[in-house]
Amino acid sequence: NEDLLRKTEKLSMIGELAAGIAHEIRNPLTALKGFVQLLYPTLNDKKMYADIMLSELERINFIVSELLVLAKPQNVQIRHLSLVGLLENVLALLASEANLKNIHFHTSFPEAPIIAGEEIQLKQVFLNIIKNSIEAIAGQGEIHVSTRLLASNQVIVRLADNGCGISEDIMPRLGEPFFTTKENGTGLGLMISSKIIKDHHGSLHISSHKEEGTVIEITLPIVRR
Ligand code: ADP
Ligand code: MG
Repeated sequence: NEDLLRKTEKLSMIGELAAGIAHEIRNPLTALKGFVQLLYPTLNDKKMYADIMLSELERINFIVSELLVLAKPQNVQIRHLSLVGLLENVLALLASEANLKNIHFHTSFPEAPIIAGEEIQLKQVFLNIIKNSIEAIAGQGEIHVSTRLLASNQVIVRLADNGCGISEDIMPRLGEPFFTTKENGTGLGLMISSKIIKDHHGSLHISSHKEEGTVIEITLPIVRR
């Protein structure tokens, strides 16, 4: 499969444009939300229309905040982080959702490497990817998350699921902005994740077989092993 990071490079102009637009959308969006909320008590039997407006505004807000990740990062705080701590944190956030869907997490973290990075952004990456795995599993399923140190002062985070897999013909389109196969997808998760990993001097690799599952490997430099 084509290197996702190279594709991100190609798309970075589009991404930055999208982020610029997203930024401009945010203020009017906040105003709209505020006024719908103000009107709410006066609506009597028409409150359901306001509810729909608010949930649609929430969706725009979600897409806009995803796109803003692509904008020139403001106040990024690069810190030394425990990769395992971060992964465990993300898994805990998703535990109830997985539980409801009868999905089991399996982890294998034999070492405790320290990486340098922006915590919120890196959490976003693992959230996006594990959420995709959860969404790819119909019925019962397994998600394996493991880390492995390389001699080159890098760590590989491997995220594997036994979900629906990705058919070969759409593999080249992964990471394209707005490319989604889901009814309610945004098609932004993988693009944003690979951009964040690239900003952290890492790489992201996807392999998948239809009906078998998907494996994503993220390589990141480490500060200390
Ligand atoms: P979204 O989740 O909003 O569709 P993403 O960028 O996160 O956007 O993913 C893009 C597409 O990649 C998904 O619509 C899906 O077709 C495919 N995909 C990503 N991860 C997986 C996975 N673990 N299993 C199956 N398909 C996946
Ligand atoms: Mg997604």
